[in-house]
Amino acid sequence: MAEKAAQILGVDGVRLYPGLLSPAAQEQMLGEVREVIAAAPFFRPEMPRTGKLMSVEMTNAGPLGWVTDRAGGYRYQETHPGTGAPWPPIPQSLLGLWELVAGYPAPPECCLVNYYGPAAKMGLHQDKDELALDAPVVSVSLGDAALFKVKGPGRSGPTSWSVKLSSGDVVVLAGKARGYYHGIDRIYPGTSTLLPRETFPKGGRINLTLRRVNVPTSC
Ligand code: FE
Repeated sequence: MAEKAAQILGVDGVRLYPGLLSPAAQEQMLGEVREVIAAAPFFRPEMPRTGKLMSVEMTNAGPLGWVTDRAGGYRYQETHPGTGAPWPPIPQSLLGLWELVAGYPAPPECCLVNYYGPAAKMGLHQDKDELALDAPVVSVSLGDAALFKVKGPGRSGPTSWSVKLSSGDVVVLAGKARGYYHGIDRIYPGTSTLLPRETFPKGGRINLTLRRVNVPTSC
C-alpha cells in the first residue's frame, strides 16, 4: 500500500500522510468501496431534533455503522437504516491501512463512508460517539480535493490547522487532537479523475473514516 515513505505533518496529534495511497491503491480501495455501496446504499442523514438533511450522503461497513436521524440522534447501530440489513464487512485494504497507521491493539469496528457532491460540506464537529476515545480516527480521501479544517478543542477560536486534502491522502486524529473540532469547508470539483462523472457516484469525493467504537476486552 505505502509505496513511498509517509511524510508526517500536522499539530497536536493530527497526522497527515500526503499521497499515502498510490493511484493503483486508490483504484483498488475504490473497487472495494463500490461493493460496500452496492450492498449498503447511500442514505441521507438527518440532524438530530431538527431533521435537517445533511449535504453528504452516507453508508457504513463493519460490525457497527454511524447513523443519525431526527428521532434517534447520533448513534452507532448494527444495521442499515433503510434496508435493515447488517452492514457489509470493512474492506481488506482499509483494515490494512488501520494496521499501518493506527497504532492501536484492536481492529476498527466502523468504516463510515461519506460522499461529498460538488456543493457538499461538513460543519465543525467532534467525533465523540465512540467509547474507545483512546483509539485514533483514521480518514482516507478519494476523489476530488477538499479543504479540511481542524479548529482545536473548542468550536470557536482560531483554526489550528487547515489543509487541502487530495485523493490518496490519509489523516489520523490521535492524542490531543482526537477530540478536536474539525470539518470540511468545501470541495474542489473536477480536481480528480478517480470518480468518473459518468458512473455512480458521479464525480465528487468519498471520505472513509475508520473508528474503534467499543473499548477492547483483554483476553
Ligand atoms: Fe469527523
